[in-house]
Amino acid sequence: MQVFKFGGASVKNAEGVKNLASVLKQVGYNNTLVVVSAMGKTTNSLELVIKNYFDDKAKLANSILEVKAFHESILIDLFEHIHHPIFKTITTIFGDLDSFLRRNKSPDYNFVYDQVIGFGELISTKIISAYLDQIGLKNDWLDVREFIKTDNYYRRANVDWEQTQHQIKANFDTKILNITQGFLGSDANNFTTTLGREGSDYTAAIFGYCLNAESVTIWKDVPGVLNADPRYFENAQLLNRISYTEAIELAFYGASVIHPKTLQPLQQKEIPLFVKSFLNPTNLGTRVGKGFGIEPNIPCYIVKKNQVLVSLSSLDFSYILEENISEIFKLLHLYKMKVDVIQNSAISFSVCFENTYGNLERLLQHLKAKFKVTVYEDVSLYTVRHYNDQAIASVEKGKKLLLKQLTQETIQIVTT
Ligand code: ADP
Ligand code: ASP
Ligand code: MG
Repeated sequence: MQVFKFGGASVKNAEGVKNLASVLKQVGYNNTLVVVSAMGKTTNSLELVIKNYFDDKAKLANSILEVKAFHESILIDLFEHIHHPIFKTITTIFGDLDSFLRRNKSPDYNFVYDQVIGFGELISTKIISAYLDQIGLKNDWLDVREFIKTDNYYRRANVDWEQTQHQIKANFDTKILNITQGFLGSDANNFTTTLGREGSDYTAAIFGYCLNAESVTIWKDVPGVLNADPRYFENAQLLNRISYTEAIELAFYGASVIHPKTLQPLQQKEIPLFVKSFLNPTNLGTRVGKGFGIEPNIPCYIVKKNQVLVSLSSLDFSYILEENISEIFKLLHLYKMKVDVIQNSAISFSVCFENTYGNLERLLQHLKAKFKVTVYEDVSLYTVRHYNDQAIASVEKGKKLLLKQLTQETIQIVTT
């Protein structure tokens, strides 16, 4: 059994879907589960639909039309006959979306988000499954929500491993080519949940774990895991082999090529993870596995944008002690901030985090009651693993440093 994951970039247009089929033909698709994300930037477009649903109803219909038009043009390119049943299937799915938005009474943004955002994956997998069928790659389309069970922490749901394992064991046919959605799950009431943005890699790992797969491969628009994000750094180099631990560290610090939760289930069962190029599918790419730290052993650069840096000091110059720190962390947890760096000294405490749920103002109100607060929004966090002097100098060059922290293997720098 092998698990493949194709992300949004790999199926951003009809060419991409055709290429997916070509990858399957080149590398083999027996006993294979293919996990697919929403096409191109569909998830972002659906986020706009959700925003309009809550804040700007006048723009709602138009934002839905854009998502429809995008998929229709792909359908027209992929299916010669306008009478192919897929056209009707997709129309029905969009009908379900309209009907949910018309009937919904819940004011809970996170709940509505998960019910709406999942349409991207449902639509993409229906289209791809039908296309593969059309060209002779017979496959089963699975609704992933019947397999991956979670709690109801909408937008960042936690997997119920016992139930998920049970569902997969009882209902999954490993002998055929299966196509299913990444990113989605369902809660005890069968409402759709999501595993967090970019969560489809994690879906592949969950199946890999529960199916005891031989390997999991995520197909990307890059040759594999590089020592830096090529969008921000020139001359990024391919890492041929890295250990689970190293990959977990890179993903944790924000190397967005692998979703951070992906590695842990694979490591537990020592299932290798391959990161390969969907444009050169027979190239080796990167192998993540047991042992061997990192090869070649070079500095790795990671950047996270849109961070918030908050520095706190006590109002009366007293020390910041355990009780203050535990209170600060309680608030960060309450407002669902994802913390990336902390630094403390006798009278100050700094924390760099992501404001994913838009709760910054409320958090600051609480903090200002107790501390002197300095806030820097929209800052960048650079992390260099296996740093050397030259690597540090290249990151610091021309930037205003707000925070710098070194450990043996890692340096983190926050800049404006
Ligand atoms: P998907 O289509 O699967 O969602 P993503 O766009 O999320 O794929 O991930 C691939 C992108 O990750 C690459 O195009 C690259 O810009 C970015 N990236 C960030 N860090 C790295 C890295 N260390 N190595 C390779 N790619 C990286
Ligand atoms: N479509 C989702 C997203 O864009 C999940 C994924 O692509 O992994 O976040
Ligand atoms: Mg992605």
